[in-house]
Amino acid sequence: MILGCHVNFTNEQLLGSVKQALDYGANALMFYTGAPQNTIRKDLDVEKIKEAHKLLKDNNFAIENVICHAPYIVNLANNKDLDKWHFSINFLKQELKRCQELGVKYIVVHPGSAVGIAKDIALKNISDALNLIILDDSPMILLETMAGKGTECGSTLEEIKIIIDNVESKNIGICLDTCHLNDAGYDIRNFDELLKKVDELIGLKKVKCVHLNDSKNEIGMHKDRHENLGLGKIGFDVLYNITQNELLKDVPKILETPYIDKEYPPYKFEIASLKEGKINPNLIEDIKNFYKKLL
Ligand code: FE
Ligand code: FE
Ligand code: ZN
Repeated sequence: MILGCHVNFTNEQLLGSVKQALDYGANALMFYTGAPQNTIRKDLDVEKIKEAHKLLKDNNFAIENVICHAPYIVNLANNKDLDKWHFSINFLKQELKRCQELGVKYIVVHPGSAVGIAKDIALKNISDALNLIILDDSPMILLETMAGKGTECGSTLEEIKIIIDNVESKNIGICLDTCHLNDAGYDIRNFDELLKKVDELIGLKKVKCVHLNDSKNEIGMHKDRHENLGLGKIGFDVLYNITQNELLKDVPKILETPYIDKEYPPYKFEIASLKEGKINPNLIEDIKNFYKKLL
């Protein structure tokens, strides 16, 4: 099982991310190169990158399982304000460069929101932007399937397909987010059927990352509110089964579930419970007790 979670990048950059992931018992991780809601970025520390790679190697932690996530304010879909659109494009070019320096192979990107323009034009804008960003040898951009909140693009596999079909380079993949798929209206209880659809439209080989989240909302609500495993409307068994799916066995599953009381990271415990294959009925209490003891 390739299992990881969102980790910080603030202490020692990637080295700190790897240490944190190992502490959680993860063999995969995902990080933002800075705050997800802004584009202020610090220079990378070359020595720390080397140390991070040594630590990965010492722990048999494959670099393919280290995933970057672009900040969510980047919007490739709307070009009404051309300066803003070009800012997003240039920022993503820099993010790709940073990933390259970090040795990271994949970066998850939200396709964007149409906000006031027609969907088909928004989808075309995304492809146009990606054509300006992607190089055949750059780290691979993974378009994330979205919940369809507001005017979000990429909440159906068909929309993702349209975007990818208009990208010239083959160097593009996708990231399936279980909460987003559920909220977008896909029944992920029958995951094989969904994967069949993914394969027909986009190709299973393009799936390089799965975001494993429960959802606070029922199927099709277009909300995008993540929940801890087993405490939401998707449920533990459905999510556990996804980790066991043979077709995606080499694809990292990344938890982006909420902190408990906005303070305590749930990942050590959620990962343990997935490894055991059983729901932890005392998840919240166990997490709180563990971190309170550390304080
Ligand atoms: Fe995301
Ligand atoms: Fe996600
Ligand atoms: Zn989300």
